[in-house]
Amino acid sequence: MTTKTKGRIFSGMRPSGRLHLGNLLGALENWVALQDDYECVYCIVDVHALTTLTDGHEAREIAASVNEIALDWLAAGLDPERSIIFVQSHVPEVMTLHTLLSMVTPLGWLMRVPTFKDRVRQMDETEESVSYGLVGYPVLQTADIILYKADTVPVGADQVAHLEIAREIVRRFNNMFGPTFAEPRAKLTETPLVIGLDGHNKMSKSMDNHIELAATPEETAARLKTAFTDPQRLRRTDPGRPDVCNIYSLHKFFNPDDLKTVYDECTTATRGCVDCKAHLADGINKSLGPLRERRQDLAAHPERLKEILADGAQKASAIAKETILEVRERLGISIP
Ligand code: ADP
Repeated sequence: MTTKTKGRIFSGMRPSGRLHLGNLLGALENWVALQDDYECVYCIVDVHALTTLTDGHEAREIAASVNEIALDWLAAGLDPERSIIFVQSHVPEVMTLHTLLSMVTPLGWLMRVPTFKDRVRQMDETEESVSYGLVGYPVLQTADIILYKADTVPVGADQVAHLEIAREIVRRFNNMFGPTFAEPRAKLTETPLVIGLDGHNKMSKSMDNHIELAATPEETAARLKTAFTDPQRLRRTDPGRPDVCNIYSLHKFFNPDDLKTVYDECTTATRGCVDCKAHLADGINKSLGPLRERRQDLAAHPERLKEILADGAQKASAIAKETILEVRERLGISIP
């Protein structure tokens, strides 16, 4: 990793299957660009994925997802020559730091995080029945960031509360044990929210309204055929309303040079939804072509992927070991 002046970024994603267009436009493209200005540490956070575990089968799926995400990341342009790309559990020091930070984190802070309450609701559980690990999610997130001495975290507006807790935990730790960690700053990023094929909800795998980056051109076209368009355009001859149609929103990303034509043909009913979707499929397939090629090539060489992740873990581990030594010393639990 070369030294860049703007600081060190940490960001992670939970492994939950292959990534989709929303992940690319809403996160990955930004991550790729950040590599130009920052030292970047990108982590597949498999331990986080365990916090909402319901059975053993799910745990095995998480392991398979790790490879899928790594393929998507590398194919999208995360560069192991410039960034540290690794799997959270491959550097177990994060679990040590998580435990130590949990000693200085009041439970009330964790219970008040809005996303905690949301997750409890989504899981159809109560605050009493969810795992201890889920309550501590922000502590593990803090450990992720500061273990690697990252000072900058790219976040969407909805994640600011998590970072605020990280800052508070760091402040408290530094107050109690002396200045050790920098308070991580949020780098607020304007990323688009990509709506799914139902035309209504955020594109996500759990809603099954997504298109995978790794989909074949045929799968992409077939998925789009099922997508919702303007609900008032019942007949082919009815003029459509692109401004309320998610297919049009997707054209903005994938056929930016053609937008005026797409708009005009819709509003004058010179083109029907079926053809409009086929045109979008062409745009997506063309734009993702190189990514998909790189992905296939990497998937055909699993040993290369393994090497990249092992190398990332080694680099991450070197930083982590130093941090843990420092922390142990601060806490008076230095290694005998
Ligand atoms: P996480 O890994 O943080 O639990 P997700 O798997 O939902 O979250 O998404 C990974 C990243 O992709 C996050 O930065 C999230 O904001 C972004 N993302 C996911 N879905 C969309 C979407 N439909 N539109 C824009 N960004 C998205």
